[in-house]
Amino acid sequence: MTLHPLYGHKKEQERIRRALQEDRLPQGLLLTGPAGVGKQRFGLWLAQTLLCEGRERPCGACLPCRQVLGLAHPDLHWIVPVERPKATESEKQVEELAEAQGEVLAERRKESLYGPADGLSGHFMATARLIARRAALTPAQGRKKVFLLALAERLVPQEANPEAANALLKLLEEPPADSQFILTTEDPNRLLPTIRSRLVPLRLGRLPNAEVERCLAAHMELTGEALRTRTLQAQGSIGRAVATAGDGNQKATRAAGELLQAVAAGTGPRMERALKQGTWAARGDFTAMLDALAEQLAGMARWATGAGPAVGVEGMRQAPSVDALVAAQSRVAEARETAQGNVNPQLLLATLAEDLAEVLA
Ligand SMILES: [Zn+2]
Repeated sequence: MTLHPLYGHKKEQERIRRALQEDRLPQGLLLTGPAGVGKQRFGLWLAQTLLCEGRERPCGACLPCRQVLGLAHPDLHWIVPVERPKATESEKQVEELAEAQGEVLAERRKESLYGPADGLSGHFMATARLIARRAALTPAQGRKKVFLLALAERLVPQEANPEAANALLKLLEEPPADSQFILTTEDPNRLLPTIRSRLVPLRLGRLPNAEVERCLAAHMELTGEALRTRTLQAQGSIGRAVATAGDGNQKATRAAGELLQAVAAGTGPRMERALKQGTWAARGDFTAMLDALAEQLAGMARWATGAGPAVGVEGMRQAPSVDALVAAQSRVAEARETAQGNVNPQLLLATLAEDLAEVLA
């Protein structure tokens, strides 16, 4: 999969292009604007423009362009908020954080349109360390490294020992010549003033309805009245439209579908799916997946009773029995309850997968 295109913000793109031509693009940029208007996508477009080796930048065709669009360019560092690392030792924290980032990016490679970040996720001391470490390296492939730090207001100042905060500050004060920093935020006033003062702001406003509609038609397969309604509800924010998508939470629904698929496929894939459970950046995401799972089973039960359309998993010819589906639903409800406590989601999911396999067999 490649990234969805950048919608709107043509004037701002033009400003960046001119600044690049005149060689006066600030090394520290702060993209501001309402949630869901595409600040991170704009940052990725800028990264692509900087890393492109074509004549008309970004050309979209050269290797670096294709790598950026596939979120696979080694010099593009997209830093997204994740759950606080659990390790106590700082080296381990950085590893854990890098791994969690990698998992979010793997999700984004599958689906580049996403809703709001989980409230629990943030940037931590380990984030500053990770950035400082990567900034000190020479570019892996091109001439530049690009750091895109999303939701910069989630840099947590109070716990950052001065050392870590200062490392980041120092980078922004005297950025290495081969590094570009792009931070995004809805509210620049919530940034540490010392960090904000090192950055040049560029505001991205709400998108015109026509752009939102173009995006929703292309990526959410909406047409007619549904498309118009969703466009109006979005109020110029694609992220908002994605967050209020009819099925509630696309990511959760997809994950629930994958789990059912794995349950149907047998022991090996079941375990593999459970072990991939680390992709849940936060508990909220995990419970949303269980909710989506319950909903999917309810849909299958309607199918089984003839009250609804066929909604099985791939390869399923007929619905499991209503009894089996009811039993499966209650197992999911139990797991949902257990998930409120302090449990390892990975283990919980492995158990649930086995339970579901048993009752649906
Ligand atoms: Zn290119």
